[in-house]
Amino acid sequence: MEKFDVTVIGSGPGGYVAAIRCAQLGFKTALIEKYPTLGGTCLNVGCIPSKALLDSSEHYYNAVHHFEEHGIDIKPPKVNLAQMIARKAGVVKLTCDGINFLMKKNKITVYTGHGSFVTKQTIEIAKADGGKEQIESAKTIIATGSKPFTLPGIEVDKQRIITSTEALELKEVPKHLIIIGGGVIGLELGSVYGRLGSKVTVVEFMDRIIAGMDGALSKELQRVLKKNLGFEFLLKHKVTGVAAKAKEVTVTATNAKDEVIELKGDYCLVAVGRRPYTDNLGLEKIGVTLDKRGKIEVDEHLRTSVEGIYAIGDVINGAMLAHKAEEEGVFVAEQLAGQKPHINYNLIPGVVYTWPEVAAVGYTEEQLKEQGKKYKVGSFPFKASGRARASMDTDGFVKVLADEVTDEILGVHMIGPRTADMIAEAVTAMEYRASAEDVSRMSHAHPTFTESFKEACLDATAKRPIHI
Ligand code: FAD
Ligand code: NAD
Repeated sequence: MEKFDVTVIGSGPGGYVAAIRCAQLGFKTALIEKYPTLGGTCLNVGCIPSKALLDSSEHYYNAVHHFEEHGIDIKPPKVNLAQMIARKAGVVKLTCDGINFLMKKNKITVYTGHGSFVTKQTIEIAKADGGKEQIESAKTIIATGSKPFTLPGIEVDKQRIITSTEALELKEVPKHLIIIGGGVIGLELGSVYGRLGSKVTVVEFMDRIIAGMDGALSKELQRVLKKNLGFEFLLKHKVTGVAAKAKEVTVTATNAKDEVIELKGDYCLVAVGRRPYTDNLGLEKIGVTLDKRGKIEVDEHLRTSVEGIYAIGDVINGAMLAHKAEEEGVFVAEQLAGQKPHINYNLIPGVVYTWPEVAAVGYTEEQLKEQGKKYKVGSFPFKASGRARASMDTDGFVKVLADEVTDEILGVHMIGPRTADMIAEAVTAMEYRASAEDVSRMSHAHPTFTESFKEACLDATAKRPIHI
């Protein structure tokens, strides 16, 4: 039986990054992945393919809606969905192949098959051809991620009633896509098909979309998706049933007045969250405990209830984000090497890759109110940015929340062009516990979208923005 210092189960962004960091630190490392391609949800059916389709559909949308104004006359463009999906598949392949390269470079032994615990130090790998192999490992990191969740009584048939995985592979542009859930997946994939011409209806249980984010972002994103893509939003509606018959889906929901409403479309995307994936891992055999939502319980060192076994990423508590999983992978590896790493969970940014993009870090205004914290608000609209006018991206704003007494930045909430990239400056500033005045005294290249962050900081610190 081959012996390893560390074995990682699952090759998503949590798992493969943990394996690389372990190898860099000198551990003999194994990585087990049940699928033939590495990279997990993120690379195969998540972040990367969704962003590939978001980019393609954005080009199409701009060609139809903005080229003429830019002075570019073309024949009316047509959607070639098969080509878009093929390009996406190419991007995914390149990215997954990159992980194979990194595994080889770092001398990580990769096993393809389903991993499960036999004892706390023996892991069995069940291969697709029925073969089995066992390895021994001093320490194990569980990074088995998550799978799409569905509502009780709703059967995903993967043809008409679909999850994000099938939505990345459709053969036609839906005429009317009904989306259950106004969260990140619903709004990103809804944007893809909305731009390609689908009518999109979002049915959301809460009274706002992207409910965990600052309320101002929810409001602005809802306004812009309605204005630009014609999205229809049914908020405070709880979906209770979905049925598919031939090419039609019927979604049943209850509204705030307890009335039952019915919607008809040709596809229904179920995007109501994801469940931790712990199926057939053998956790009960070795005594790894789960919380009441089925996530693996860990302490602040990401140790499970069994000594020598750690868990990271979507399978444990916290935001289901690729970069959160990556940080946790590095954190565990460095701890195993005797280092003292740290993760500031409050400063893990969240991004929604709609257009305009939504990005945030730190506390929301709602959270500060709840904490009874005294804070100042500064904001700057993109319509006052020269760079945004040049690119015709004037929807949205940057909002900065700063401590009323110390001026320390407590939260940054952006909606606008390229805010997914802009948020990194806010993370850096907040990691160094910058004040709004600190940022407002730093030079920002002109003309850039980033000037809007500086202006919002000027507004927060002393109510003296220059350009509004
Ligand atoms: P995963 O990526 O889920 O990887 C787990 C891996 O473990 C899988 O490959 C699985 O096959 C394997 N596995 C499970 N059990 C076993 C077993 N017993 N034996 C062997 N292998 C096993 N996050 C972002 O930060 N940004 C985004 O833009 C973004 N976009 C997304 C878009 C979509 C459509 C979806 C669905 C998700 C998106 N996410 C995004 C979320 C992101 O994909 C996850 O947070 C991230 O992949 C979690 O990483 P992980 O390593 O914990 O698990
Ligand atoms: P989500 O939790 O973001 O949103 C699900 C939404 O469904 C919620 O707003 C919820 O109120 C609603 N809902 C639940 N039950 C309902 C019902 N019966 N009727 C109507 N609405 C209902 O989940 P998601 O969008 O499926 O995304 C899953 C995970 O994937 C998220 O945790 C997210 O972090 C991650 N993800 C991240 C990105 C990104 O970082 N850009 C992109 C995609 C996915």
